Amino acid sequence: MRIVLMGPPGAGKGTQAAIIAEQFKIPHISTGEIFRANVGQGTELGIEAKKYMDKGEYVPDAVTNKMVAARLAEPDTENGFLLDGYPRTLEQVGELERILDDLGTPLDHVVEITANTDEVVARLLNRAKLDGRADDTEEVIRRRMEVYAEQTEPLVAVYEEKGLLLKVDGMGDVEEVSGRLLGALQA
Ligand code: ADP
Repeated sequence: MRIVLMGPPGAGKGTQAAIIAEQFKIPHISTGEIFRANVGQGTELGIEAKKYMDKGEYVPDAVTNKMVAARLAEPDTENGFLLDGYPRTLEQVGELERILDDLGTPLDHVVEITANTDEVVARLLNRAKLDGRADDTEEVIRRRMEVYAEQTEPLVAVYEEKGLLLKVDGMGDVEEVSGRLLGALQA
């Protein structure tokens, strides 16, 4: 099972990705988490990524693509993977396609978790209080939503065209949403 999970910041991608990955016994690959781990460890990649993340901007494609290519070359992706937060730009879509073409392993599904903007901003502000992520301030959250709308939302149509898209309503509690997601993926 090779899956891409899309959706605006705060739609619950991370939570749902963990549930799906567990269910299908595939690795959960979150580019945001990999970047945060690198920031935490003070690696060169982390120092570079932090400049963008703190402002709510995307890390440059060249940096992100290289990191994902290396991750997808790890042996644990042999039976599939769930990509959470990648691709987010048209260029990343192209890169992912090249990587998977080379491996001869095309995507099975792209799932879009849809969410109401006011609701997700509220969720993110609440999360900011709980775990204090550096990019969860109101100003940066608004910027992340804008960047998502400009650069990532258009990718939904690209995947719809390819016949890969499943849309799932992300509103409701965690179990409700994961029930919908698993239902859509198993259908
Ligand atoms: P969210 O989806 O809630 O914004 P993520 O943890 O997925 O949170 O991402 C956090 C940040 O990491 C993004 O705002 C961006 O700066 C960076 N990032 C994550 N994935 C990508 C990507 N595919 N391309 C560029 N930047 C990315």
